[in-house]
Amino acid sequence: MKFYNLEDYNEQVSFSQAVKQGMGTKQGLFFPLELPEFSPSNIYDMLEMDFFSCSSKILSTYIGNEIPSYHISEIVKKSFSFPISFVEISDNIGCFELFHGPTLAFKDFGGRFMANILSYILKPNEKITILTATSGDTGAAVAHAFYNMNNIRVVILYPRGKISPLQEKLFCTLGGNIETISIDGSFDSCQALVKEAFNDKKLKNIINLNSANSINISRLLAQICYYFQAIKYIPKEKRNKVVLSVPSGNFGNLTAGLLAKTLGLPVKRFIAATNLNDTVSRFLINKKWQPKTTITTLSNAMDISQPNNWPRIEELFRRKLWCLNDLTCDSVSDENTKFSIRQLAEIGYISEPHAAIAYSLLRDKLQKGEYGLFLGTAHPAKFKENVEKILGYPLFIPKELANRIKLPLMSNYLKADFPKLRDFLLNRI
Ligand SMILES: *Cc1c(COP(=O)(O)O)cnc(C)c1O
Repeated sequence: MKFYNLEDYNEQVSFSQAVKQGMGTKQGLFFPLELPEFSPSNIYDMLEMDFFSCSSKILSTYIGNEIPSYHISEIVKKSFSFPISFVEISDNIGCFELFHGPTLAFKDFGGRFMANILSYILKPNEKITILTATSGDTGAAVAHAFYNMNNIRVVILYPRGKISPLQEKLFCTLGGNIETISIDGSFDSCQALVKEAFNDKKLKNIINLNSANSINISRLLAQICYYFQAIKYIPKEKRNKVVLSVPSGNFGNLTAGLLAKTLGLPVKRFIAATNLNDTVSRFLINKKWQPKTTITTLSNAMDISQPNNWPRIEELFRRKLWCLNDLTCDSVSDENTKFSIRQLAEIGYISEPHAAIAYSLLRDKLQKGEYGLFLGTAHPAKFKENVEKILGYPLFIPKELANRIKLPLMSNYLKADFPKLRDFLLNRI
């Protein structure tokens, strides 16, 4: 299938090209030219399939014959080789846990799929640089997914002092082909630097630049797959009453969920749950896009005031003739986040700030007869300091994190200044 640039409909590229390029001209995002839809009986069959088969079918539908389905299926098996789980919270609410991968966040799905797809697409002597900004979890997922892939240099920018110490340990201790830079600024300033680098044609060509942010279409498509698994856990009679609450920052996860719905997956409605960085909630009310300065919250991976994927969501609603007002979007304060973490702990479920925000809105907005699922996007131990403070007792630390705690950080440090970043990128080819 072809993908077009949201800023220029005439710029249409193949899937491989979209993956390699990351973004189109004018910083436009790529979007699928067709929005395929499975018949209800097809969907029924897919919900009976195992995760790998169902995912391969979804991805082949978008990618088409550009990559033979046999290879897609191999890449899927390699990328999604870790468990997903479902935890029942109450009669009508469940948590769908996506954080059992190598870096304990849902971003392992997109990060690993993208890495394996790229290494399939790249010619043996083709060298590229992945430049990506992270609000905390993308960095780790991307770093681990690309670690030791020799023709790929990875440079990750993150806001200095604004990610949890364990998030930092997970990806700033690897070395090798992974370079990390802590930036004096917010995630939005890191994202702006990445965009600037992409706009610099000369730089882009010299270092063969690519991005692994959720703006990369391969990450987005990979994330559609687990939504089908989520519905599997719901008893058949409740499947058309499902409300999915998605902790949202850059809105990539939500975009993937909405794409799953366009494929025919029965989801009654979505809740986009954010922290007080509430650009989208305000936009849905007054139709004005007015990002404020990003504020720091407990749910740092969602401290984003200019969500990059929003144009894709608007395009999707426009093309499907859906009404944006049917999307519930609301924000949750740190106080309410803490309250929800404690409330979940009382029921016996240890959560963390991102999922707790999604739970909080689900609990408040679920209507009679509906079944609510919130996405567990990260392991609570990644936010150990805060969660322990909120709950008042120590958390269990899984081995993926425990192994990294003692390793020294290897990050570089830069001001949020593009010429400095440019030098950095050029001086180390
Ligand atoms: C990245 C992230 C989010 C936000 O996902 P988006 O796709 O950017 O909306 C939510 N929770 C956690 C733990 C994350 O790492």
